[in-house]
This record gives sequence, structure tokens and C-alpha cells, in this order.
Amino acid sequence: MLPGWVQSLIISIYNTYQYKVRHGGQYKQLRAVYKSFDKLDKPEWSKLQQDKLEKFLLFATSNSAWYAGCKNKLLSEFPILEKEDLINYLDKIQTITDSKGLVSYTGGTTGASMKVVYTKKDIQERYAILDNFRSLHGYELGKRTAWFSGKDLVTQKDVDSGICFRDDWINKIRFFSTFHINEKNFVTYWNALCDFKPEFIVGFPSSVFLICKMAKERGATYPGLVKVFFPTAETVLAEHRAVIEEVLGCNLRDQYASSEGAPFILECKESNKHIHPLTGIFEVVDDDFNPCIRGQLLVTSFTTHGTPLIRYKIGDSVALSSRQHCSCGSTFPIVDSIDGRSNDFLVSPEYGQVNLGNISNSTKGVDGIICFQIVQRTLDEIEIFVVPGPKFNSFQKEKFISALRARMGAEVRFVFNLVKSIPTEKSGKFRIVKNLID
Ligand SMILES: [Zn+2]
Repeated sequence: MLPGWVQSLIISIYNTYQYKVRHGGQYKQLRAVYKSFDKLDKPEWSKLQQDKLEKFLLFATSNSAWYAGCKNKLLSEFPILEKEDLINYLDKIQTITDSKGLVSYTGGTTGASMKVVYTKKDIQERYAILDNFRSLHGYELGKRTAWFSGKDLVTQKDVDSGICFRDDWINKIRFFSTFHINEKNFVTYWNALCDFKPEFIVGFPSSVFLICKMAKERGATYPGLVKVFFPTAETVLAEHRAVIEEVLGCNLRDQYASSEGAPFILECKESNKHIHPLTGIFEVVDDDFNPCIRGQLLVTSFTTHGTPLIRYKIGDSVALSSRQHCSCGSTFPIVDSIDGRSNDFLVSPEYGQVNLGNISNSTKGVDGIICFQIVQRTLDEIEIFVVPGPKFNSFQKEKFISALRARMGAEVRFVFNLVKSIPTEKSGKFRIVKNLID
């Protein structure tokens, strides 16, 4: 393996190169366009949205074999696009070859590995949207940023010698490994974060949460001031938000998008989540696909020219808000909540689906749980893995178990394990709930 400083040098150069691809072409112009969108009133953006939709549907029906039969149809007449379709018929759906576009792999939560192809312009537009959002909250490239993404950057040997990150010196980004965050390595991570003193943090909320939770357990105080934490990829739980904001003193500003290319929902300064109506169409429907206020999402995304997503059943659900106004000044629609991937739940023979939020709430009022994971393979049994902190004892265990019992019902067998650490997924993400029922 190359010495750490060589790896940091490579990362600095590679990251700068990648930045140029994502931020080349029409990026600059698109940034300005999206900045101007933020000021539009509802009649203005509604009309623009309709124009963008018509153009996008025309493009898809003219360039994708999958949609060729839908020419001149209204959006509501298009077929629902399922994940299985994306996996099985990608070659028919995509409008450009893999080599002409940019391929993005998404580690589907079901274990199925999915892939989509973007055009370069799609990517530049998505970064323009994301960067415009982050800049509203003060972030620009070049400001000191700690990044917690899925990359396997270091070995346990590195961590043992005090290195759990690689630096991009050019852009002042410290990339932390999300693979080694555990009790044993806490001090290394905490010191690296305290020394670096980032102004911003970007990355998996579960990773940042874990570090903050361990710091809180130990009564450690953070010596710097993080302005904003931008979570990526995972659902942010209420507990994540509370602990991270408390320990780092920062605001958390969430975004909803996905590696398949979903349109965006972005959190504003007033902590409201606004649908960005010029990134796509969000249809909220019930199980019979009729429009409703709280239900599953069908997304049509204007930044998916490479692999058009039209009425794509993405597997998340939202609740639309009745509020029409936000004091941030935006007229974009507000959603009250976004519920994560629908397979992030356990199944109780008595109560049916028990969602992730409810499972994670089981630790409320329980001291000493650093992190936990529940694996369900059959309907009648769950395996519980807990990484205990110093305050965890049999009393706390009973509290946790009885909270879980209340949610899962009396018929489920609990297999309880205390462990030193819980491995993350291949993608580097941590999952609280693994539903492996066939
Ligand atoms: Zn707002």
C-alpha cells in the first residue's frame, strides 16, 4: 500500500479532476438559472414546470425505446416505472450507451444492484441544483469540510496509528472512512475531527451520529464550531438530528434525492422541506395510484435524460403539507415528512409493518446504546445486535427490550447479542433494520 501522504496527494488530484467534470460544461450557467428559480412565485414556476415537463416527455418518447409508444400522451397516461423495470429493461429505457454517458450504480437496499446512466449535462445540472442549495446555507467548495462518505480509504492498521481519513489539500476536504467508526477507534476519529475543525460536514447521518453519540456518552465537548451538516444518502432520524446538533452545535440541512436521479426536496433555513418543482414532478398516490396527501411517491425527474425516470415508483412516501407559505420566502410546496425506503421496516405477526422511525424510537430513555441493528429473517424471530457503552446494563437492556416488545408484539422471539461493532453495508452505509424475510 502507498504511504498516506501519497494517497492524500492522489485524492487531491483525483477530486479536483472529478470536480471539473461535474462542474464543467453548462454547470456555471445552470447554477445561475437555479439561483434565479428560487425567487419565482407560484404562477411563474408552474408555467416553467409545465414547459420543462413537455420537453422532457417529448425527449423521452423520441429517444427511449421503452417510451416510444407513449408519444403525445399526458403524464397521467404513462405507465408506472417499477424498480424491476429499471433492473430488467435498462437497455430499452436508456437513451445513450454506457460509454457515452456517466454510469451510476446504486446499492439498492433490497440487495439488488441497480444502475442508471446519466448524460454529462444531467450530472452538471444535478450538481448545480445541489451546490445552489448548499450555497444558500453558506457552503462553497474550498471551505473546510469533513466528508463522511462510503469510501474505503484506510485500513485498521492506519486507524491504529491514528489515521482514519485522507485529505484533499487543494479543496480543504478531509474524507473520513465510514468503515471504522466504533468504540475502539473513537478517540482517533474524535481527535481527527477536533484537529481539523471543519466549517461544514457532508455525509452519512448515521456515521456522524455515531461519533457524536460516543462523544456525548463520554462527556466530550467539541472545540470548534460546525456551521451546517448536510446529510446524504440515508434517512435522517429525529434522534440523529437532535444528537448531532447538540454535540457539534450546527444546523442540519437535509436533502432528498437519490442515486437513480430523483428530483429534489431541499430543506430551507426555517427547517421546512420544499419540493423543488423545477427538478421534476412529485406525484403522491395511494395504493390504487389515486392522488392523495400522504402516500407513496411517483417521481418524474427532469435530470434523467440518460435513463428517463417517468412516474418512477421510488419506494419512498411523503406527507404533503397544508401550509402554503414559508417565512424563508420560497413559494415551493412543503412536505411535512419523508418516510424512508419501504423495506426499512420489520414485520410483526400481530401489528404488521413496524417502520424504521418506530424501531429507532425504542432507544428513547435508554442509556448506553452506542448503536444497534435488528435483523429479521423470519416472521417469528428477530436478532438484536447492540454495541454497548459504559452506561449499558441489565436495567437499560430491559427497558430497550420492553420498548421493542411493545412494537413487535408478544409472538416474536428475540435473540439478543452484545457486540463490539456492527459492520456497515458494502456501500459504507449503516442500517438499523435489515429485513431479510423472503
Ligand atoms: Zn422555507
